[in-house]
Amino acid sequence: MKILQNILARIVAVVRLDYILNEIFDHFIYRNPPRGKFGPSPFRATRYARRFQILIYHKISPDAHPFFRPLDPALFEKQIAFLRDSYNILNLQELVERSQHGEIPERAVAITFDDGYRDNYTWALPVLKKYSAPATLFVTTGSIGNRQVLWYDRIFDAFRYATTKRAHLRNLKEFEVDLDSEASAKRSLELTIRRAKQLAGGARLKLVEEIEQTLQPDLRSNSRVPMLSWDEIREMQQAGVRFGSHTVTHPILSRVEKAQLKMELTESKMELEAHLKMPVVGFAYPNGQPSDYNEDVKKLLWEAGYLYAVTTNPGFNTVYQDPLELRRGQPWQKDMGLFRLKFFLQRHRREF
Ligand SMILES: [Zn+2]
Repeated sequence: MKILQNILARIVAVVRLDYILNEIFDHFIYRNPPRGKFGPSPFRATRYARRFQILIYHKISPDAHPFFRPLDPALFEKQIAFLRDSYNILNLQELVERSQHGEIPERAVAITFDDGYRDNYTWALPVLKKYSAPATLFVTTGSIGNRQVLWYDRIFDAFRYATTKRAHLRNLKEFEVDLDSEASAKRSLELTIRRAKQLAGGARLKLVEEIEQTLQPDLRSNSRVPMLSWDEIREMQQAGVRFGSHTVTHPILSRVEKAQLKMELTESKMELEAHLKMPVVGFAYPNGQPSDYNEDVKKLLWEAGYLYAVTTNPGFNTVYQDPLELRRGQPWQKDMGLFRLKFFLQRHRREF
């Protein structure tokens, strides 16, 4: 299966089959609906509707973190160069607005980044500028400009720089972290993160602190991932990058109380708008899976003045897609041929 996939990927790249098929689909098969008319049969209409894809990136850096590996800048550049060449990169907000008017352009894609890592400024911005590629960053405002590290990065770093091999976590019902081998460390980490996501803010913070106390990470020589500063954000804005909210503290929104939920949505928006001096109408759900948000969250987003929200559900979007549940794909293939192939398949079939 894998060999077949590799051969197919090679063929696609050599004859630019993806480009040719996209041209054919966008000219002869996929259509924008007549102005204001999104019917009559949603299923059939969705199947033949013009579509656009959204890519999600996180860290872009040469740092080889064993537990949360960033995308290598050289590979990032290859992907952007390819998208610039074979697709039509648009600003996400513009794309969403055009979609709502039934005017999705051909081969449309948008590029997004989550969390607000400083390496987006150091490594991604030069590439975005070089290829004149518009992008949108969704930032967790509580960690901007104050050297605070996101809660899961604290866990990743505690595991990476641990000075002990074993730890009993009382906050996880005597769960034992085992760092004897790479495999056991990864297993322990996966379980810890999964359970930490289920905890509410205060309990999760307690757990993070316990992990740091028990694993005693040596953080002196580390390259702790600092987040962006407001100056860097403004500089990126001047270079054409747009910004959206990714909450204040990055909680799983389906698990927080209504008062906190409201604070996460409104305060992040207000702070961004105060610094950027422009309306902020885009939002990215932390974690972004269907169980991480719900109708209450969507309703509050709408009331807070957001016009669109992105998830981490893979697939393409059409005019029929709920603007508060836009799909995004993750470009995790290291091989450019496979990246191209997967990106193409994701454009035409939801399952990819
Ligand atoms: Zn995030």
